[in-house]
Amino acid sequence: MQEQYDVVVIGAGPAGSTTAGLVSQAGLKTLLLEREAFPRFHVGESLMPECYWPLQRLGLVERMKESKFVKKRSVQFVAASGKESQPFYFTEHDPRECSTTWQVERADFDQLLFDRAGELGADCYDQTRVLDVVFDEDKQAKAVKLRTRDGETKTVECKVVVDATGQSSMIAHKLGLREDIPNLKKAAIWGYYKNARRDDGINSGATIIMHTVEKDSWFWFIPLSDDVTSIGCVGDNEYMVKTELSVEDRYQLEISRCPGLQERLVDAERVGKLHVAKEYSYWTKQHAGEGWVLVGDAFGFIDPIYSSGVYFALTMGDRAANSVIGAFEKNDFSGEQLGSWCEEFKAGSQWIRKLVEAFYSKEFSFGKFMAEHPEYKGNLVDILIGRVFHSEAGNIFESMDPAMAAAVDMQ
Ligand SMILES: Cc1cc2nc3c(=O)[nH]c(=O)nc-3n(C[C@H](O)[C@H](O)[C@H](O)COP(=O)(O)OP(=O)(O)OC[C@H]3O[C@@H](n4cnc5c(N)ncnc54)[C@H](O)[C@@H]3O)c2cc1C
Repeated sequence: MQEQYDVVVIGAGPAGSTTAGLVSQAGLKTLLLEREAFPRFHVGESLMPECYWPLQRLGLVERMKESKFVKKRSVQFVAASGKESQPFYFTEHDPRECSTTWQVERADFDQLLFDRAGELGADCYDQTRVLDVVFDEDKQAKAVKLRTRDGETKTVECKVVVDATGQSSMIAHKLGLREDIPNLKKAAIWGYYKNARRDDGINSGATIIMHTVEKDSWFWFIPLSDDVTSIGCVGDNEYMVKTELSVEDRYQLEISRCPGLQERLVDAERVGKLHVAKEYSYWTKQHAGEGWVLVGDAFGFIDPIYSSGVYFALTMGDRAANSVIGAFEKNDFSGEQLGSWCEEFKAGSQWIRKLVEAFYSKEFSFGKFMAEHPEYKGNLVDILIGRVFHSEAGNIFESMDPAMAAAVDMQ
C-alpha cells in the first residue's frame, strides 16, 4: 500500500468495487479498502435486469453468464388473498439479453466485483478497516486513517474519498447527513431452505413476493444455486422485532399466515440460522462535498421490495466514476463536480420509491392495478427492471386516482 493515491474507495460492496474498478480503468491511482475478510456473507441476492449495463461496462457479463448464479427472468406478486398476479416477464418487455438477470450469492458476486477492481488496476485490500476520513480546515476530504490486517495504523492521502461503506455510511454519520424515512421503519427476518418447491421452466428462477393475510408483512422467495432458496419476511419494525415473540416465533407465525409460501415449503428444510436486519431505510441530505462523494447504501437505501439496492449501488458506482474522472480532467474536486450525477439519480430513483409507497399502502395490488390500467404495463415493468432514468418512467403514477396518488406521495 502506498502513502498517496488519487482516489480512496472505502467499502468493497457492489458500489465501491464498481467505482474503484472504473476509475482505475481510466488511469487513476486507486485504493479500495474493505474491513471484512472476503468473500463475506451479505443480504441482497436478487438483481434487477438493468444491472446489465454497469456489469457490461465492467466487462463482467460473460462471467455472469458462465457463473452458477440462477437466471432470473420474471417477478411475480401474490396478494394477501393468495391471488397470484401474472408474472412480469422481462423479455416480453424487451427481448434483448439484458432482460435476463441473476439471483446471486452475494459472497461470490461481491468477490467477483472485488477481483475485477483489482484486474482493472485498483490496489485492493480486505481486512483493512478505515477508522476515519480526515478533512482539512476548508472541510475538504484529504486522507483516510486505517488499520491494516496486521494491526498497523496509518494515514493515506488522496484527492477524492468515495464512501461506499454501505449501511455504516461513514461520512454521513460523521457529518450528520442521515435522515430517516419515517414511514419505512421496517425489519426483515430471513433464512435459507433446501428443497423449497420452485415453479418450472421460465419461472424457475423468478423472485416471488407474497403478502401475508391482512398485509401485515410480506415474504421474498429468491431461488439460489444448489437448490437453496432465500426466504425473507418484512414488516414494520415494531411488529417484527419489538414484540414479545422471539425472532423464530415471529418468522414461523408469518409463514403460517402465508398460504402461498406454506405449500412451497412442504418438502423443504431450513439450513442455518435466521438473520435479522432492521431500520435499514434512510436517505442523506447531501451526497457530495469537497473531495468526497457517497455511493450505494452510504448514499441511501429505500426498501428491499423491488430488489433495487444492488442495481442502485452499481449505477451510482458507474455514475460517480464518471464524475471522479471528470474531476481529475478539470482539476475540480468540488462537491458540485463530484456529485454532478446525483440530481438525475434522485429523479429516477424516486419512481421506485413511489412504487414502494404504493406497495405498502393497503389499497394497492399489482393484479388490480394491471386489470384497471393495462395501458401502463410497460411503464410498470420499466420500474420493475430499473429502467427509471427517462421521462416516461413515472407515467404510471398519473393514472392512480387522487387518493391513491396521495397515499404514495412522498413528503
Ligand atoms: C433485508 C434486505 C434485503 C435486501 N434484498 C435485496 C435484494 O434482493 N436485491 C438487492 O439488489 N438489494 C437488496 N438489498 C439491498 C442491498 O443489500 C444493498 O443495497 C447493497 O448491498 C448495497 O451495496 P453497497 O456496495 O452500497 O454496500 P454493501 O454491499 O453493504 O458494502 C459495503 C461494504 O463496506 C464495508 N465497510 C463498511 N465500513 C467500512 C470501514 N470503516 N472500512 C472498510 N470497509 C467498510 C462493509 O464491510 C461492506 O463490505 C436488501 C437489503 C436489506 C436490508
